[in-house]
Amino acid sequence: PGVLRVVLGDQCSRGLSALRDLDPARDVVLMAEVMGECTYVRHHRQKIVLVLSAMRHFARALAARGVRVDHVRLDEPGNTGSLAGEVARAAARHAPERIVCTFPGEWRVLQDMQGWEAATGLPVEIREDDRFLCDLGWFRRWAQGRRQLRMEFFYREMRRATGLLMEGAAPAGGAWNYDAENRRRLEAGVVPPAPRRCPPDAITREVMALVEARFPDHFGSLEGFAWPVTAREAETALADFIVHRLPRFGDYQDAMATGEPVLFHALVSTSLNLGLLSPRACCEAAEAAWRAGHAPLNAVEGFIRQILGWREYVRGIYWLKMPDYAGLNALGARRPLPWAFWSGETRMNCLKQVVRQTRDLAYAHHIQRLMVTGNLALLAGLDPAQVNEWYMAVYADAFEWVELPNTHGMALHADGGVMASKPYAASGAYISRMSDYCRGCAYDAKQSTGPAACPMNALYWDFVARHAQRFAANPRMAMPLQTLRKMDPQRLAALRETAAAFLAGPEMAPEPGQ
Ligand code: FAD
Ligand code: SF4
Repeated sequence: PGVLRVVLGDQCSRGLSALRDLDPARDVVLMAEVMGECTYVRHHRQKIVLVLSAMRHFARALAARGVRVDHVRLDEPGNTGSLAGEVARAAARHAPERIVCTFPGEWRVLQDMQGWEAATGLPVEIREDDRFLCDLGWFRRWAQGRRQLRMEFFYREMRRATGLLMEGAAPAGGAWNYDAENRRRLEAGVVPPAPRRCPPDAITREVMALVEARFPDHFGSLEGFAWPVTAREAETALADFIVHRLPRFGDYQDAMATGEPVLFHALVSTSLNLGLLSPRACCEAAEAAWRAGHAPLNAVEGFIRQILGWREYVRGIYWLKMPDYAGLNALGARRPLPWAFWSGETRMNCLKQVVRQTRDLAYAHHIQRLMVTGNLALLAGLDPAQVNEWYMAVYADAFEWVELPNTHGMALHADGGVMASKPYAASGAYISRMSDYCRGCAYDAKQSTGPAACPMNALYWDFVARHAQRFAANPRMAMPLQTLRKMDPQRLAALRETAAAFLAGPEMAPEPGQ
């Protein structure tokens, strides 16, 4: 008997640690499509298609290299529906001497893995997931003894450690961060190039039919599915970004525009998270474009910071702080998630645009997630657990290690400031400045009180007033708190009344008609 090597849906990488030292003559690779993983949250149907199709393509590619793959399909008779169940069945089928797997992306799955030894009676080796640029031990040591964790300092260490965008010991161009240049709205006449899409092949179409039949009540449309499902497609999509969108990625990174879901963003998160692309390859491709004079430094540094900085940082936080992190609710937010987050039926045009786009594409870019849905959830005091479940459900790139710190930490401040030094709270003025959504809205972005006023305005001041004491010592909240202190009490009362009326109204109802 050889080794049973277990590969999970987000581990479709040729160089995966669990596959190293594989002996094709003796070992078997188990890939199991299980119902439990498709339904522990009601994932967007495009996400289920993406993961299952990537698994099927990866299994086929391994088999073509002479590897014995035991691929258990979702609708196969006898499929137990759980990872543990399928590992136990495979252990009985193949009688291996031991089991090897790679560290998973979710706490829940790690717990499961830690039970495989007892369930099978075989030794289980969980190898490090070295597809990341920062290993978890390094992050833990970096975090130890620091009063506050801040992404910017972590990112500088990562630049030094990897040599990315460095000139000797100094950052390329003389500064670590060019974010100040990256705040333009999409001006008239700037037309983002349409991203190259990957149309579904026969394998993906078969999975689409399966998902259509088995998950009829999950959120999201399947039409228009065009995610890369193989490493080759992912590399082509990355190259398309580097050539056509990277040069203006920085300028328009924070912009939002009706009918332009992607703008100059990379669309690489699904491929990175499934392991079809490596983070280093993405960063190196961007750096090479800068060195060749094809893309400016503000764009390239901004893109590299997202991957080398934010992506690695949130993973470090997740594994440092779990499992308690998932239960944090520092701001005591308890309001149930409004139905409008699912239906998109709302008079708030910003919310409507983002929810509809999310339903159609399983994608929204960072500022849409942070400053529209995230900001509304923060200001309205929506229950972090419900908001977290929504983000896990609706995006094709949602895996808990990256989704949870972004939702709990960055958007909702539910972690009390572990991840980010201040809440990303903003009034309607921000959305009005960075998008064209307000032009098509039933509410007036310039008004703050009364039924016609943009709800974000009143909600913002209600939020600041509600948490004034908590944020009193936070220097990054000093400005709004000072404005609040100087505000005419009658005006504040009117703002809070407008906020209360909105929160009690139909827009925020958890179910239609409630
Ligand atoms: P680009 O804007 O082109 O950025 C390039 C890459 O940088 C991304 O693909 C991603 O890998 C990385 N990146 C950028 N920002 C972040 C970030 N804040 N954290 C981690 N990586 C980042 N990203 C996910 O991959 N999965 C999630 O479930 C997820 N949930 C989020 C929830 C909220 C509330 C917020 C505010 C952000 C979330 N993000 C998540 C981060 C970010 O929004 C997405 O990575 C990005 O929108 C993906 O699109 P893109 O590939 O076009 O990104
Ligand atoms: Fe959103 Fe307010 Fe603008 Fe309407 S006016 S789109 S609610 S920010």
